[in-house]
Amino acid sequence: MSDINNQPLHDLGVAELAASLRAREVSAVEAAQHFLARARSHESLGAYLAVDEAVTLAQARAADARLAAGTAGPLEGVPLAHKDIFVTKDFPSTAGSKMLEGYRSPFDATVVRKLAEAGVVTLGKLNCDEFAMGSANENSAYHPARNPWDVTRIPGGSSGGSAVAVAARLAPAVTGTDTGGSIRQPASFCGITGIKPTYGRVSRYGMIAFASSLDQAGPMGRSAEDCALLLSAMCGPDPDRDSTSLDVPAEDFSRSLNDAIDGLRIGIPKEFFGEGLSADVRTAVDAALKEYEKLGAKLVEISLPRTELSIPVYYIIAPAEASSNLSRFDGVKFGHRARDYTDLVDMYKKTRAEGFGDEVKRRIMIGTYVLSHGYYDAYYLQAQRIRRMIADDFQQAFKVCDVIAGPVAPTVAWKLGGHGNDPLADYLADIFTLPASLAGLPGMSVPAGFGEGGMPVGLQLIGNYFSEARLLNAAHRLQQVTDFHSRKPEGV
Ligand code: GLN
Repeated sequence: MSDINNQPLHDLGVAELAASLRAREVSAVEAAQHFLARARSHESLGAYLAVDEAVTLAQARAADARLAAGTAGPLEGVPLAHKDIFVTKDFPSTAGSKMLEGYRSPFDATVVRKLAEAGVVTLGKLNCDEFAMGSANENSAYHPARNPWDVTRIPGGSSGGSAVAVAARLAPAVTGTDTGGSIRQPASFCGITGIKPTYGRVSRYGMIAFASSLDQAGPMGRSAEDCALLLSAMCGPDPDRDSTSLDVPAEDFSRSLNDAIDGLRIGIPKEFFGEGLSADVRTAVDAALKEYEKLGAKLVEISLPRTELSIPVYYIIAPAEASSNLSRFDGVKFGHRARDYTDLVDMYKKTRAEGFGDEVKRRIMIGTYVLSHGYYDAYYLQAQRIRRMIADDFQQAFKVCDVIAGPVAPTVAWKLGGHGNDPLADYLADIFTLPASLAGLPGMSVPAGFGEGGMPVGLQLIGNYFSEARLLNAAHRLQQVTDFHSRKPEGV
């Protein structure tokens, strides 16, 4: 049993699958088994860090019981997998780090709980860069993930496993997190759709912290329609558990998907189309913008003059916050503890030396440095000031446009190992995703075509605070006139 209306089960989107489950054309157990089997047969892609068939099937049986009893949630029985940065009671939670190898949380992250309440069945936990630090998923302490469009290439990061799972049809949709681009960039590299909501839209409770003023969870799926369904279930205030979650009620993002977009003013930041942008990405992005013009949108040139500064600013603020957040991994409270040590300080040192990978250590050192007495004013405080200016630049731009569009990344996905041991090469590739993160604005990646080597290219849409409905609407309208989001890699 793996076909619905002559379509393989794994080709159905979340919306269609939820409808088939409700109509009892397929059971939650059958759907779960189908995707678990795909995860097994595609293990070489490295998407998953943990699966537990018994747990998944028990959840699926419970979903079937609710479907039979007429007490089903909106996403009842839909299988979904979580980035391994969300803590889960029923699966290990590692954040892609040896520091948390085998760790089991006593509670579920709010995102996990809310989606479970909506009826989803958890397929497992997805590979990611260690503590979400990276742009290629090569910083996972376990194994890299491979891009299903070309397995010699990276899938992007840090939510690399999440993007692979959707692109290879190992899950209909997944969760991811985005601190400086980790939903948008892997979505772009793997030809799927992903949205990072406004900072504070989705609770961070139970998301293993990287940089708390930037971290934000969001859905990744094949279409804007699927992302809208998931985001509606994920968002909403969580005042008792996340003090930065905003007091804005959850919305039904599906409602406005079909709204007309004629007259929509799309801002084109000239700084996103400079020398650094490769020609193939530019061609795909330009073609998508043409489609928008045909749909009645108007393109307006805008300027985000501090785009370049977002790299040094982010790579000061994010490590500063990380150095503080990661101090909790000390071998005492949870996670790895060194086996042999002479005293407490020696235990701390050995535990952290053994448990953390190179990139995490690099960021802890940078973060500690920029926060230290004598350097704080020169680096951290200065970075905070420029962060504010970057946010102000966006507000200037939104006086003349409704959404902003541009590339997600300067190139398509590069080869595994392609950046060698040069972390700066990874950092520089974040240039177009960092500005919205620093400003706390919502941003999306929407499949917009293919570039060098037949690799997917994403179009980035950035909106003002709380304009997720508008972004999803704009993305959906593009997906009604293009089919990039429904293409799939050969052999999948
Ligand atoms: N690539 C960026 C970094 O390495 C962003 C990561 C993220 O969004 N989690 O920090």
